[in-house]
Amino acid sequence: MFDNLSDRLTGAFQKIRGQKRLDESNVQAGLREVRLALLEADVNFKVVKQFVDQVRDRALGEDVLKGLDPGQQVVKIVHEELVELLGGEQQGVDTSGARPLKIMMVGLQGSGKTTSSGKIAIWLRDQGFKPYLVPADVYRPAAIDQLVTLAGQIDVPVYPSTTEMNPVDICRDAMEKAAEAGCDAILFDTAGRLHVDEPLMQELAGIKEACTPQEILFVADAMTGQDAVTVAESFNERLDISGVVLTKMDGDARGGAALSIKSVTGKSVKFVGLGEKLTDMELFHPDRVASRILGMGDVLTLIEKAQTAFDEEDAERMAKKMQKAQFDLEDFRTNMRRLKKLGSMEGLLKMIPGMGGMLKQLGDVQMPEKELARTEAIINSMTLQERRQPKLLNAGRKERIARGCGMQVADVNKLIKHFEQMSKVMQKMMGGKKGKLPKMPKL
Ligand code: GDP
Repeated sequence: MFDNLSDRLTGAFQKIRGQKRLDESNVQAGLREVRLALLEADVNFKVVKQFVDQVRDRALGEDVLKGLDPGQQVVKIVHEELVELLGGEQQGVDTSGARPLKIMMVGLQGSGKTTSSGKIAIWLRDQGFKPYLVPADVYRPAAIDQLVTLAGQIDVPVYPSTTEMNPVDICRDAMEKAAEAGCDAILFDTAGRLHVDEPLMQELAGIKEACTPQEILFVADAMTGQDAVTVAESFNERLDISGVVLTKMDGDARGGAALSIKSVTGKSVKFVGLGEKLTDMELFHPDRVASRILGMGDVLTLIEKAQTAFDEEDAERMAKKMQKAQFDLEDFRTNMRRLKKLGSMEGLLKMIPGMGGMLKQLGDVQMPEKELARTEAIINSMTLQERRQPKLLNAGRKERIARGCGMQVADVNKLIKHFEQMSKVMQKMMGGKKGKLPKMPKL
């Protein structure tokens, strides 16, 4: 996401870098590029104009800090303005109010409403809620089935809607059923059409009146760019939405929707969808996204991701094992699998400040994913006993393992050697035996 924009903006700043001071002409030249970059990312033209004017006024105005070079100053201003453009403070769903928490999901067909309902149900459960799902799209039987299946997958109760029922009645009755089931958060997955149309808007207004939801989340497909913004405006006019869920941000969306929706509708993006899986959703943090766009990385998200994959107790247990040189191939494989759950190696590296640009300079660099998959295949071919006690691995066993994973004995040997070197390094780093650090092995 935002890759092109990120490249273009970095290029724009290079024009200003190295100048002794900011003046009308060098700021104009840099901002011309910023303007083009934003337009190319499909940001609403009015929003672009406002943004560029604002940055120019600030860059040439008084808020020029001593100690920063002109390039850094402009980057700082652009960063702050980007945060504003993306919505300012992070806006989540307010979970502190009355129960049940009622969330109405609205948006066009195919925008990702049903998938996002499931994702938000999981998020609510993580916040301590007992969610309840309501299929309120009676026009497409497949839509009801889709939500029912999804609810089954995540083990969340779902209202038994049928296509003969009236959507407003469904929602009204669902509130009673949710209470009976002891649920305290209700998600209404409403109908979508290919285009905005009046009967649909009336139906949605009827549901809003009957259910008085605390949140009306408009679900927008980020890939549709400015169209998403226009549709958001129509929904907002009729329903006064409370926020936006921007889906498909994992695709090659240029970023225009994310960067325009707040300015145009006044409503913030609350969640972003980053894939088809029900765990592929993040809260939207304008400051972190602005940093990512400007190639400054996003360490906070990286830490949070790591925290979800590795719990503290487990990490401590592993650390102890490393210290005592008891870390075995089974532990190694467990950690490798957790690492994979964090997402692509490239995506993770980009969250480290400065890494985005570095990866670009390296060009088409091979990510270690393939190597990790080979390593895992070798470990998978071992028995649990062998993984726990790598010392058991004699010639006969190595041959069997190599055959099992379709590789050579040399590959198995290489893995064992690397593992042994790594264990030594870990033991030293964790404060085990004192001595010179051996060279870190390459995996
Ligand atoms: P609805 O018609 O609005 O309910 O949309 P669906 O939830 O059925 O989603 C439409 C399609 O988009 C499905 O194929 C989903 O798997 C896919 N989808 C939804 N959200 C995302 C996302 O964040 N990323 C990607 N890549 N696909 C998504």
